[in-house]
Amino acid sequence: MTGEKNVVWKRLATKVVRAGEPEPRIAGAVVTPIFQSAMFEYGGESDYHDLQYIRLNNTPNHTTLHAKLAALENAEAALVTASGMAAISTTLLTFLSPGDHLLVQDCLYGGTHDLVTGDLPRLGIEFDFVAGDDSGAWEEKLRPTTKAFYFESMSNPLLQVPDLEAGIAFARAHGLLTMIDNTFPSPCNFRPAEHGIDLSLHSCTKYLNGHSDIVAGAVIGRRELVEEVRRKLNHLGGSLDPHACFLLDRGIKTLVVRMRQHNESAQRLAEFLSEHPGVKQVNYPGLASHPQHALTARLFDGFSGMLSFEPQGGIDATRRYFEKKRLPVSAPSLGGVETLATIPATTSHAGMSPQDRQRLGITDSLIRISVGIESSEDLIEDFDRALSP
Ligand SMILES: *Cc1c(COP(=O)(O)O)cnc(C)c1O
Repeated sequence: MTGEKNVVWKRLATKVVRAGEPEPRIAGAVVTPIFQSAMFEYGGESDYHDLQYIRLNNTPNHTTLHAKLAALENAEAALVTASGMAAISTTLLTFLSPGDHLLVQDCLYGGTHDLVTGDLPRLGIEFDFVAGDDSGAWEEKLRPTTKAFYFESMSNPLLQVPDLEAGIAFARAHGLLTMIDNTFPSPCNFRPAEHGIDLSLHSCTKYLNGHSDIVAGAVIGRRELVEEVRRKLNHLGGSLDPHACFLLDRGIKTLVVRMRQHNESAQRLAEFLSEHPGVKQVNYPGLASHPQHALTARLFDGFSGMLSFEPQGGIDATRRYFEKKRLPVSAPSLGGVETLATIPATTSHAGMSPQDRQRLGITDSLIRISVGIESSEDLIEDFDRALSP
């Protein structure tokens, strides 16, 4: 789980390709082979957690990825997991015990929302939602039992960025552990460890793998904390299979070139949509009109490939768009090479009450786009045609 040998690779575009890869190469193989072996011969290990075994997250495919992911975020250590939810649930269960209290940003990823509101209370873990951009209201939710502050670096589907600097200062002042779901920006656009955030969590299913063909997760951050999560994961069993490790490593190698294209195309599309007569509202942090544009520009290296918009004409216009569009695939999830379109009110946020959706600003006609890496000209032409009368 170390990143030391990566210090020679300074720049992200080099790290995605080279960091963590075994040296010397295994039998000269340029690509790290798949170690499809559940267990490994004893090498003198005395601790259960050090025995080489797939569930113990320490085969060569795991350690390669751990070093690479730590290097990408300039963090001390990393751990891969069987899914993004395995990373999130295992991390919360590692650091929260019955009687503890969690401060958590509202407008969470649906799975995390259900975990926090449905599962944590059954374990005696209490929580309070707070608005990420309302730091003045955080203190009144603080309790003597508050252990951690949980954020998402870019919210779904409105692409809001919390007041991260205030959040980090607040957590430090009150001795809280900071955890952030960094899936939407990916390590290309934001690296939480550089800002002193303790743990960064990812659904590697999205940008990190980038090809919509595996489910995986990661925990990246301070070494002693990641080691605690690894021991919990070893017990809970949400380990990533070596073949999926191999695919994730392969996907990460093109992260920088993909993200460059995602960032660029989403910016172009957002600008186009914001001037289109068939569009009422566009949510994209790269637009000067976005409430956290300046904050995002200061802390992030890119605005991501995610945007959402509302056509003029409400739910009927949204339906018409879905009937007429050709390029974007109607499918959940995000972060792959192909452009995807969803209606959050009927998919990712269908589990939320209409009142809660209304309060957060997720209207029934809102369309979320994961901008892929197709030609942005083709994309823009398709949106223009589908949104025009
Ligand atoms: C998809 C997603 C998750 C869950 O990841 P899985 O890999 O599907 O388990 C968590 N957080 C965010 C922001 C996501 O987009």
